Amino acid sequence: MNIKPSLLAVACALALAACSDNSSSPTSAPAPSATTTPAEAPVTMTPAPAATAGSMTNAPAGSAMDTSKGTAVVTDCATEIEGSDAMQYNVSSIVVPSSCKDFKITLKHTGTMPVTAMGHDVVITKQSDMQAVDADGVAAGAASGYVKADDPRVIAHTSLIGGGETTSVSFPVSKIQSGGPYVFFCSFPGHAALMKGTISVQ
Ligand code: ZN
Repeated sequence: MNIKPSLLAVACALALAACSDNSSSPTSAPAPSATTTPAEAPVTMTPAPAATAGSMTNAPAGSAMDTSKGTAVVTDCATEIEGSDAMQYNVSSIVVPSSCKDFKITLKHTGTMPVTAMGHDVVITKQSDMQAVDADGVAAGAASGYVKADDPRVIAHTSLIGGGETTSVSFPVSKIQSGGPYVFFCSFPGHAALMKGTISVQ
């Protein structure tokens, strides 16, 4: 009579020991959970990336136009810029003094290629209008100098010239004083991809 209960007690003690061993390993889990606290540290660091993201919002405005060629030299409310046989202007931005009433842009074609092969002009529009004005200019054709006639989106434009030629245009500064940003570009088919820049009033 006493043997069986004692065997049960041993079996029970073994079972408890086994159970306690099994239960003790889950209770050792808090150690791995403690290692999760370092994982939370990167979460608290998110404010830093957010700050850089905020500074990057300024980047598109500056990188919208390539300004690597520099700013045109302005003298007496006028500037002279150049277009080359390499399909390039020599400047990527024009800054018009706000003290000027009118502004004159002279374009000098420094190359030798004919207007039919390497024609250049200067067309001024809002940056948002540039693509459509350029497309309509190409559609208007060479006879129109690749500028659609009486296009209200065109603020000013020169004639289309070939190598060795010079052309110029004057326009009221008030036309680009607000509502920009504004750009200048060459409307000869395909040239605006490279021949473009910003024009602003300061
Ligand atoms: Zn051109």
